[in-house]
Order: sequence, then structure tokens, then C-alpha cells
Amino acid sequence: MGRIRVLSEELINRIAAGEVVERPASIVKELIENSLDAGARSVEVLLTGGGKSRIEVRDDGDGMERDDAVLALERHATSKLARESDLETIATLGFRGEALSSIAAVSQLNLKTAAGNGPGTEVQVHGGQIQGVREVGHPQGTTIRVDRLFFNVPARRKFLRSDSTELAHSVRWLTRYALAHPDRRFHLRHGARRIIDADPTDDQLQRIAQIYGGELAENLLPVEFRDHDLVVRGYTGRPVDALARRDAQHLFVNGRAIQDRVLTHAVTQAYENTMPPGRYPAVFLFIELDPSAVDVNVHPQKTEVRFHQSSRVHDGVRDALRVALAETDAIPSLSDLRPQTAQQLGAVKGATLSYLETREAPAARGTYSATAPAARPAGTSAVDLERLPAAAGSPAREAVPLAQYRSSYIVAQDARGLVLIDQHAAHERILFERYLDEAEANAVEVQQLMFPVTIELSPHEAVIAEQEMEEFERLGFRVEPFGEQVVRLSGVPAVGERVDPAALFRELLGEAAQAKAAASDSSALRRRLVTTAACHAAIKINHPLTLSAMQALLDDLYATRSQTTCPHGRPVLFRLTTEEIERAFRRR
Ligand code: ADP
Ligand code: MG
Repeated sequence: MGRIRVLSEELINRIAAGEVVERPASIVKELIENSLDAGARSVEVLLTGGGKSRIEVRDDGDGMERDDAVLALERHATSKLARESDLETIATLGFRGEALSSIAAVSQLNLKTAAGNGPGTEVQVHGGQIQGVREVGHPQGTTIRVDRLFFNVPARRKFLRSDSTELAHSVRWLTRYALAHPDRRFHLRHGARRIIDADPTDDQLQRIAQIYGGELAENLLPVEFRDHDLVVRGYTGRPVDALARRDAQHLFVNGRAIQDRVLTHAVTQAYENTMPPGRYPAVFLFIELDPSAVDVNVHPQKTEVRFHQSSRVHDGVRDALRVALAETDAIPSLSDLRPQTAQQLGAVKGATLSYLETREAPAARGTYSATAPAARPAGTSAVDLERLPAAAGSPAREAVPLAQYRSSYIVAQDARGLVLIDQHAAHERILFERYLDEAEANAVEVQQLMFPVTIELSPHEAVIAEQEMEEFERLGFRVEPFGEQVVRLSGVPAVGERVDPAALFRELLGEAAQAKAAASDSSALRRRLVTTAACHAAIKINHPLTLSAMQALLDDLYATRSQTTCPHGRPVLFRLTTEEIERAFRRR
């Protein structure tokens, strides 16, 4: 007698339900997808007990005829795939034909639907068993009510979290689809409490504002990028507005909300070294590409995809964001100093100050020396204010220094207002970009030391030095072993030519050891070392500068790719716009 048996239909459905229905939010997600696939203009969701007691989704879509309404509850029943080849080019959100049957298997489900002006149908299902089908009055569209989720799977029921946690997951799904479809109405209620109420709009930004509030929406930068069939559009946040949570990061691929490591990495890379750790930009990105270039049939919950050319999509997203960040005049105005920015400042300030206090170089003479004004080509010594771009909309890229405040901050003016610049952070940003570019191109300028120095290392330092010899070489250090735990330094990167070479090398060695402990990859290691070197070499605060030195620094700063934050993510500059000044003096 064989031991293998084919499982009963009921058991198969319950097993499948385990994959599709994890929690109330999974149901909310599947039902919204069905409503959108049915062409609904309005989707209303009503939850009780975080969705554990009741989930009701009502739409005004196509609805179903009686036969279809019954068939829809069968496993593998779908109207969305007709031919096998359709799987290659899926344009609908659903296609697996297993959501309704899975949901029905683990709940008490009531479906009311009507197509056109025909009679409506009501189907009642209990734990996967159809209890009855009858005619009922219902406007065109579909209402699905799911009661007592997991009533017949106690193990699963126990696994559910508090009402508010479960509710939060559902809110997230509704948010995603509301963002992806601004032209539809979305409504979410929890008991008597109205949580989302978004009227249709033809403006994507307006929809973001409906959900996240006008303040967040107002400061977003537009993203518009195209590379053949790959389109990346949407909005992205300025580094200074970074949030402590990732919950305003939304990525859509062909209208589907996606969680994808490749895409998340692309976002992280675009913002690299513009934000403190643990901060995330708001990102609303809609990626479109040929449906046949992306496989959506990877995961039962359809929240993951596989790209045929994942590096192309990765680079496209990264570049789209970089362009958006670079092209826009993203300098925050003083009135943008919101609580979160202030917190962010406070959080990092301690660390930076202690750095300055403990390591204040005795004579930190940077390129922008106070005593020797930087030489400037004739004709560019002063910026002609008359020729600055007109204020409205056009990004100003040039600024003129007016004074230095407390030997630490540059007071300048640009086409749009009065700018206050942290001279250390600004110089750090400049050195960071320059040095990193050189390192990536393997073209770091080396300053040979007149008198090579020998440095004694600890055993641990010696190991790291040996392991990372190539990287240090690339970063412009000329080091060679000189006995057991001693190295000889004969050249340093020109960036650091004015700081103590041995101290710089040791500092970077320590940084490399930390990076290795954190298992960083080689690109992360390089950025870390470059960040530290830039910080070390940058002019300090409490350091007087001449006007022409300040001018040179400003020119370099305005030419950087991202002048708003330093490589540690602290703000570099703020602007008081002319408008704000005029308003303050009641001239407006
Ligand atoms: P899938 O969405 O993968 O096709 P589902 O189990 O979610 O599978 O739904 C099965 C079928 O039921 C769908 O293909 C669709 O024809 C129909 N259906 C489900 N929900 C709705 C709805 N809200 N409006 C109209 N038809 C629906
Ligand atoms: Mg579906």
C-alpha cells in the first residue's frame, strides 16, 4: 500500500491561504487590487478590530454576473489570464486566481455584486464552504465583507498582533494604492474613525499631500527620467528633510507596490553621504518598463518582482534621483527648520563638536587660507550680481560672501536671498566629492613627503594595513612595510597635505578597522575613509577667512553635486529668501 495521498481540496485551499493571507492587511491588499482591476473609481474600506473582526471593501467597479460570482471563489479561478502567454505580460494587479478562495477558506465571507443594471448576487461562504447564493439588490460594483478572520485556524489567530498594529499594516497598503492611483477615490475607516479620505485628483503631488500633509509634499523634488523603455518619475525628498522612519518611501513598478532590495539599494546610493545614519528621505517613485522585462510571478503575495536587467533598473533609479537632487535648487530656507531638522542637528552636533574640540588642528591652513588669498583667474574675481539668474524658479549657482560670523560661518548672498554657510561642513563636502571622484578614477593626486615618516602600529593596525594596502594606495598613501610592525609613509593624498600625515593615516586605519567590523563592502569602505579624510582636512570653525578665500570656497561649494549637507549628513547651509526678509520687514 502506497503512503502518498492527494490532499483534499479544502486542505489545499487552507495551505494556499497560509501563503496569501498572513494578516488582515493581506486581505485589504488583495481586495483593493481586485477593485482596481475591476476599474473602480472609488474604493471604500471599513475595518473593525484592526481588521481581525471585520474587513469590508466596497467598490463601484465592473461587478460580476451570478455565475462569475460563484466561480470567483474557486481556487485558480481568474478572468485575468486567458492564455498561457499572458503570464509574460501581466497588466493587472491580480492574476493568480487564489486570493478570494484563500480568504474564503479562513474566514466567513460575504460577497455582494452586480454587473451593469442586472440583478445583484449575494454569496455567503463559511470556512471555504458556500452556504448559499441568492439574488440581492446592489448598485453596480462589488462589496466583500470578511468576518472573523482565522476563526478556523486558531494557531494563526494567536499570531495576530494588537488592533493598532494590524490596522497600521492595512493603512500602509491603502496608502500605497492611493498613491499609485490619484485619480480614484480612497476611503478608510476604522470603526467610527476616519483614517484616509482622499478625493480623486489629477495631480500626483496633491495626492501625496492628501495623505502625508502639505508640508511634506511642498518640499519634494520632482523626478523625471527616461532611458528607452525605462521611465522613472515621481517625487523625492531633500536630504535636509530626511525622516527618522522609512514609512514615506514608496516604490512602484508598473503600478504595483514593490519591496525590492535592488531598488532600495539604488535609493540609498543616490543619497549616500547626504544624510546622517538612520535617516531616510521621502521617496515616491513610479517605475515603468515593458511588462515582459519584469517577472511579477515571484511571490504569492506579489510584493516582489524580478527584473530581467536588474542593474539597468538599479542604475536608472539611482541616476533619476541623482539628477533630481542635483538639478534642483535644494537649499533649505530658514523657515524650513522644522522640529525634525532641529532634532537632527542636535543629534549630530554633539559628535561633531567633540571632534572639533579634541582634534582642533593647531594651524589648519586649508586651501582657503586666511593669509594667502586663493589666486583667481581674472574676470571671475567678483560675481556680477546684475547678471545672476532672475530669482523666480531658476536655481542660482553662485553666491558672494558678505562677511564671516564668529570666524565660523560665512554670510553670503545669492540670487534668491541671504545664505548662511557652515564653513567646515562646506569645505568637507567639497573635499569629499573631489577626493572621492579622484579615488574612483584611480587618479588621486599624491603629495610626496620631503621627509618620509615611520609609523609604529599595533598588531591589529598592522593586519588592517596589510589587508587594505591596495585601498590606501588608491587613496594616495604611499606606504611600505618597514620592519615587523612599522610602516614607512612617503606620500599622502594632496587633500591632506596640510595635516599631520601620520595622524591622518592612523585615523583612516582605525576607520578601516571599524568598517571591516561592520562588514562594509569596498565601496562603503572607500566612502568612509574619504569622509574621514575630508573631515580631517577641512578648515575648522573658529578660523578667520579673507573675503576672497570665502569666495573661492563658495564657488567650489556651489559647483558640488550636493551642497546642502556634509558627508556626515549635517546641513551645510540655509537661506533666508528675499521674500522672507521682505515679509519680515512688512515690505510685502
Ligand atoms: P485574481 O485577482 O488573481 O484573478 P482573485 O481570487 O482575487 O484572483 O479573484 C478572482 C476573480 O474574481 C477575478 O479574476 C475577477 O474576475 C473576480 N473579482 C474579484 N474581485 C472582484 C471585484 N471587486 N470586482 C469585479 N470582479 C472581481
Ligand atoms: Mg485578485
